[in-house]
Amino acid sequence: MSAPTLTAALTTLPALTQHLSALGAQTLHRQRVLRLWTHALPIGSGRRKVVDFLPAPLLAALPTLLDALQGLAVLRSQHPGEDGSARLLSGLHDGQTVESVLLPRGGLCVSTQVGCAVGCRFCMTGTEGLIRQVGSAEIVAQVALARQLRPVNKVVFMGMGEPAHNLDNVLDAIDLLGSVGNIGHKNLVLSTVGDERLFARLMARVQGEAHEGPVKPALAVSLHTTDAALRAELLPRAPRLSPLALVDAADAYARASGYPIQYQWTLLAGVNDTDEELDAVAQLLHGRYGVLNLIPYNAVPGMPYERPSWERAAHMARTLHRQGILTKLRHSAGQDVEGGCGQLRAREAVGKI
Ligand code: SF4
Repeated sequence: MSAPTLTAALTTLPALTQHLSALGAQTLHRQRVLRLWTHALPIGSGRRKVVDFLPAPLLAALPTLLDALQGLAVLRSQHPGEDGSARLLSGLHDGQTVESVLLPRGGLCVSTQVGCAVGCRFCMTGTEGLIRQVGSAEIVAQVALARQLRPVNKVVFMGMGEPAHNLDNVLDAIDLLGSVGNIGHKNLVLSTVGDERLFARLMARVQGEAHEGPVKPALAVSLHTTDAALRAELLPRAPRLSPLALVDAADAYARASGYPIQYQWTLLAGVNDTDEELDAVAQLLHGRYGVLNLIPYNAVPGMPYERPSWERAAHMARTLHRQGILTKLRHSAGQDVEGGCGQLRAREAVGKI
């Protein structure tokens, strides 16, 4: 089978496992091959070369297999920002594209879907609807690709897509990255708008249920407002969990896993940066095990939202701090390359990059 044909057949990790087994790989052989791929290592690397251990059929197939795996996410363009971040646009085997972001200090933000069904009003990806799921191997391939450019020791699942809508693929990728991928579990950060199935599966992991994988990721929750009606308007197809139910479920996972929740709050001028919201969020997050990230909106042409002033955002952060809410005011990485979530993909589609 040629490398491109093989690429199309290996978009998920179960398919890759099956392929390796058919080539005679036992668990240890499989781990060695996955390690070469996920760490972007050459075949002859390591104290004892991987080739010393592999069964003959697997050894013969290895160069083509590694080519095929590299074909799962191919760099189409790279857009460095001034803050040490860089946005990457990757081509998938069927011509679709996804964005990843190299973050300062070894972080990487990956995409889990092409498009997204949640349809957040302030997000470019949300305007497309869901085009297709990104396979578990395609998620891992974004990490392997980034490691060809620089070391990666933290992966956040906050790029295009809602991970809870592609949960099997996302959790499979997390299990691989948290094992042979060598990324600490608390450095695998799964982001969600909130979904009961996701909370149930994460809690099952904490409780060590046999049908779940071993890796317990940290969790980021897109909260954005304390007002249920406003949240339904901003995140039209997110599950109808009230902000209180959402925070209760997230807090239960934080306490069970030992990892604080990162509550995400995209600040939209005049929408969710009001004094009423300040009071309400202070009340909602009081005593919770988590940190609130205030992220001033990165304005997108054609969308009706604006970025609040930095002074207003800083005032909110200070006020919440004084009320005992651990709050961080964050820049959205890569904003200076005009690459808010989904913008690179949209620009390429109209031939502007
Ligand atoms: Fe989907 Fe995230 Fe965009 Fe919302 S912000 S539409 S969940 S990609």
